Amino acid sequence: MSEVNLLDGAVRARLEAAAGRRGKVGLRLSRLTTIGCGGPAAFFIEAASIAHLAAILAATAELDLPWLLLGGGSNLLAADAGWPGVVIRLTGDLKKCRPDGERLDCGGGALLPRAAAAARAAGLSGLEPLAGIPGTVGGAVAMNAGAFGAAIGDLVVSVKICLPGETVLLDHEELEFAYRSARLPAGGVVGRVVLLLRQAPERDIENSLRDYGRQRASTQPAVGRTFGSVFKNPPGGKSAGELLDLAGCKGMRSGAAAVSAAHANFIVNKGGASAADVLDLMNSCRRRVRDSFGVVLEPEVRLLGGIYLDPLP
Ligand SMILES: Cc1cc2nc3c(=O)[nH]c(=O)nc-3n(C[C@H](O)[C@H](O)[C@H](O)COP(=O)(O)OP(=O)(O)OC[C@H]3O[C@@H](n4cnc5c(N)ncnc54)[C@H](O)[C@@H]3O)c2cc1C
Repeated sequence: MSEVNLLDGAVRARLEAAAGRRGKVGLRLSRLTTIGCGGPAAFFIEAASIAHLAAILAATAELDLPWLLLGGGSNLLAADAGWPGVVIRLTGDLKKCRPDGERLDCGGGALLPRAAAAARAAGLSGLEPLAGIPGTVGGAVAMNAGAFGAAIGDLVVSVKICLPGETVLLDHEELEFAYRSARLPAGGVVGRVVLLLRQAPERDIENSLRDYGRQRASTQPAVGRTFGSVFKNPPGGKSAGELLDLAGCKGMRSGAAAVSAAHANFIVNKGGASAADVLDLMNSCRRRVRDSFGVVLEPEVRLLGGIYLDPLP
């Protein structure tokens, strides 16, 4: 890890000059993640355009600083000790979506519900199954987020990726989308994404949005902060949620973290849960499923800040 001190005024000034805006020291990740856990980020800064993003990435590379691209923070568990590097979030133009014929050009920082609303307003259908996912379009591409049998990768035409010193355009094939994964260049940030949708009457799109919203509300916890599915579905057979349910995980607790009674693959922060509580609960659930069915569940949620699940032999 870099020897550069992020609290050094000159280092911060260099990053702020690259971003063209002020950053923040010690912003707690609990405020930036949907589960509401996590200690301070050494430095937090936002990029409002591809040019600013490229400049920030170039500065972090030059200064050899660890960095993390934060989307909606809806699939992250950040350590209680926080993250000792630069947290970068997309804003401004990188949150905007622009329809162009049957295409929707989305900033990597646009929230999926916003992108779906922009598509609906332009009479474009295709995003409805994903409209309830509370992450960004960039985060969804990085995770190949999906719901109701659809995945964002199915809609992607091309992605503009920012790397220190260059921007590359990758097409659908090059991204090699698979279940909850995409092949992004190491250290690459999804800056903009072009989606191919199809024209449909606005009323049909609205009905479809409502139906998916209802289905989501009937299967997911209505209250409490979560980060969505904790574990990936193992290949073949039962889903992670079914295995966790059959293993008796619903209602299990660790501190203020609890397995949702509505969906066994959701952990809910009942108020003031620490990342250690959540991690402990994840370990207990995973052990139960392994002991009951011999299946080792892999996390869907990304762990940040040097925290890891217990190895399961
Ligand atoms: C209530 C709830 C329901 C959910 N339902 C679903 C669901 O139905 N289906 C589903 O798939 N997921 C679901 N999720 C999980 C989550 O919303 C998705 O995985 C989402 O795609 C994560 O996006 P994000 O922007 O929040 O990413 P973050 O959680 O901020 O980050 C996740 C990872 O993506 C990387 N990343 C983020 N943005 C970029 C970018 N622009 N460029 C490169 N890398 C990036 C981050 O560095 C990190 O490694 C749900 C979550 C919640 C809280």
